[in-house]
Amino acid sequence: MCVRPGRGERHPAPGESNPGSLAGGTAPLRVPVRPSKVSGVQAFYCDHFVLPLPAGHRFPMEKYRLLRERVAAAGLCDLSVPERASRTQLLRVHAAAYVDRVLGGTLTRDEMRRIGFPWSPELAERSRRSVGGTLAAATAALAEGVAANLAGGTHHAFADRGEGFCVFNDVAVAVRALQAEGRVRRVAVLDLDVHQGNGTAAIFADDPAVRTVSVHGRNNFPFRKERSDLDLELPDGCTDDTHLAAVARALDAALASSPELIFYVAGADAYEGDRLGRLSVSKEGLAKRDRLVFSACRRAGVPVAVVMSGGYGRNIRDTVEIHEATIRAASREGAAAVHAGPSS
Ligand SMILES: [Zn+2]
Repeated sequence: MCVRPGRGERHPAPGESNPGSLAGGTAPLRVPVRPSKVSGVQAFYCDHFVLPLPAGHRFPMEKYRLLRERVAAAGLCDLSVPERASRTQLLRVHAAAYVDRVLGGTLTRDEMRRIGFPWSPELAERSRRSVGGTLAAATAALAEGVAANLAGGTHHAFADRGEGFCVFNDVAVAVRALQAEGRVRRVAVLDLDVHQGNGTAAIFADDPAVRTVSVHGRNNFPFRKERSDLDLELPDGCTDDTHLAAVARALDAALASSPELIFYVAGADAYEGDRLGRLSVSKEGLAKRDRLVFSACRRAGVPVAVVMSGGYGRNIRDTVEIHEATIRAASREGAAAVHAGPSS
């Protein structure tokens, strides 16, 4: 197992204050320096910031802890807790009034209904940590080729509202933070979650520097789709071959924009055993998808930050297994990138 005692960040208690306070400021990201010969990828987690949900709530919150435990047991990653995203970072994407309602606990009943979670201080904290995890993963990916957030992929969050279990748009905030720091200019978002990345599409609709590509179920949420740069819609019940053909097309389109970084919104919900997915993609098909993405990006020399996004398996173990396979594929590619050297 590769948690770094004494190197990574201290595992902070939920609710513990840190420099990225509600009052704003730019909390510096502390991406720990990596030991030179670690074979796994860097991965960031925030599952210990647990949302209090009513009994019977349909969101599988425990999948994040289960995933982190499996990834740690398998020794796949170098695990760290990310900083929370600062208010300043959030404001590069989100409307100030919306951010303040989330942070201050003044969301309306209708806003909470759209998001699907009741407000709590933990919701605000966890949402910020999840965004911070994606930013940390993107920063690590730029240095090392591949890195992961074991949360994130909250692609239904718009600039001024959240929906579908998404509060802040982690990928969009990370893109804007890296651009503001001058670390990247052109970015692609490859969204293979079964639901359209509608918030991401809307946020970057008029930005030619960010190519948004989404492969999703035609008949699935959101029922009013936004326009990504490329949308590939899949019919109900679609199986591996159709799905993988769409993935290959989407990947080509993402790489054709010559991005300096790709955000891979993986999603486990195209799986045939998913409660919400409506597709019939096997675990083997999803593993092929992951290999396709990571190997194509490595060949193209484009760093990848992978985020988890949705997964609502009838059996939660299936969802966790699919996410773990994604991290395993990332780890293999990360190791290959290290062996191939920085010019690969
Ligand atoms: Zn989804």
